[in-house]
Amino acid sequence: LTSETTAYETNAACEVAVLGGGPAGIAAAERAVGLGAEVCLVRPPVRRGSGIVPGGILRSAFADAVGPGGRGGYGVPSGTLADLRFDELRDRADRVVQQDAASADEGLRSRGITIVDGLARFDTPHMLTISDGVTTRVLRARRVIIAVGAIPRRPADVGFDGRSIVATDDLLSLGELPALLTIVGAGAVGLEYASLFAALGARVTLVEQAPSIRSFADRSVLDALLAHLASLDVEVRASTHAVSAQRDAYGTTFTHLDGQPPIASRGVIWAAGMQAATSGLDLAAAGVEVDTHGRIAVDSRYRTSNAAIFAAGGVVNGWTVASESARSGRAAASAALDQEPDERGWPIAHALHTIPEIASVGPTRSDLERDGTPFVRGIATAQSVLAAQIHGEPKSVLELFASPSTRTLLAAHAFGTRSIETIHFAQLAISTEISIDALATFPFNHPTFSEAYHVAARDAISRLPASG
Ligand SMILES: Cc1cc2nc3c(=O)[nH]c(=O)nc-3n(C[C@H](O)[C@H](O)[C@H](O)COP(=O)(O)OP(=O)(O)OC[C@H]3O[C@@H](n4cnc5c(N)ncnc54)[C@H](O)[C@@H]3O)c2cc1C
Repeated sequence: LTSETTAYETNAACEVAVLGGGPAGIAAAERAVGLGAEVCLVRPPVRRGSGIVPGGILRSAFADAVGPGGRGGYGVPSGTLADLRFDELRDRADRVVQQDAASADEGLRSRGITIVDGLARFDTPHMLTISDGVTTRVLRARRVIIAVGAIPRRPADVGFDGRSIVATDDLLSLGELPALLTIVGAGAVGLEYASLFAALGARVTLVEQAPSIRSFADRSVLDALLAHLASLDVEVRASTHAVSAQRDAYGTTFTHLDGQPPIASRGVIWAAGMQAATSGLDLAAAGVEVDTHGRIAVDSRYRTSNAAIFAAGGVVNGWTVASESARSGRAAASAALDQEPDERGWPIAHALHTIPEIASVGPTRSDLERDGTPFVRGIATAQSVLAAQIHGEPKSVLELFASPSTRTLLAAHAFGTRSIETIHFAQLAISTEISIDALATFPFNHPTFSEAYHVAARDAISRLPASG
């Protein structure tokens, strides 16, 4: 130990050290303590939150301004670009992040988990240096679970200024809502922000280097979103590779493209990929290897190349939903303590927080066709769901896939208001093998968005040969 380093005596015997206090780290710590281990959770003293809270705040403010269904529905936007106060949204996001962090800390402490403030770095596989900017401490652990997440890629040639050229984690630092906006990357976050900003009247150009837009959701649902974006004048430029972005002295931003003229606008959101947040960890000192994308390489039980060290969440997966990260955290903790995972393989529901939103659980049509899985398809459109019409949403769609032999649900894909909430019916129905016959007669309240499940299940049943 050096003179500036004090032994962290209370944690000298820490059995499991979890690095990172996001969904993966919290779930890992809770599972490990539940298995009887002494657990320390190391996380930064100042919590900034991931993109979830700022994205959620922005979405909620935009949805309030444009009403359910968004611009392009029957409704008339009640807000305008000028009404949006980014400084207020920033304050609100900060408050929510701090509140959420305080409540997470309380939960962790009440379960007997020791919280260690600071950033961790490996000295050896079992010894970590924790620095909070003022004090440096040493923490020893028998097992380590790395859950430090992923951060947006920030290419050196992009002139991020935190005001008009921003990455997805500093979106709320935008000075004002740009009337002309370029978004680089049509992944989940790029699509979300294209929809949000276009809903409030910004002219959005969405640049994607792949030849087409892809998503976890079924093609027909994704196409419904893309048609909606087109109706909001979002210009999607596929097969277009953005290499850099700069702002000139007059506030115009230029997104430079490979082999094409630059795109001029008044703001750029660079949403092209995430990278594992491992730069400060000194993984080499721990003998932990990364894959070709810089993510920590793990086996099916989240064990790294060092048998005493595990990794979970964004640091392994890049971008995924928080529930998937939490699940991997729990699984990593089980493996670290030589226990079986604590849950069956619940299907994960994926979501795009667009306006209106996309939600999806289970395979897509092309997955089913590729695997040779027989299926029957049922559809509900807004025209057959009273709540969708009442709320002024003409474009929503719910698509169900069921097994023709067992009549149980295989998958659901939805585009429409509240679909992120109602997808949980499908998630539960798939997990508990509920039949489309049960869904078709389930006593949903009327009029509700949930009734789309009723309609789609009936549609699927009508396509099956009559039984008896
Ligand atoms: C813009 C955006 C919007 C998103 N919106 C959603 C959404 O609406 N819903 C959803 O489900 N998912 C969303 N996601 C994805 C979600 O954020 C991730 O799936 C999830 O946060 C990953 O969890 P994690 O615990 O692996 O990492 P994180 O949540 O990133 O947590 C990692 C933590 O580790 C800390 N850390 C880093 N280095 C160290 C170190 N050396 N020592 C100690 N601690 C360290 C970090 O500060 C961070 O607090 C969004 C992502 C982005 C970028």
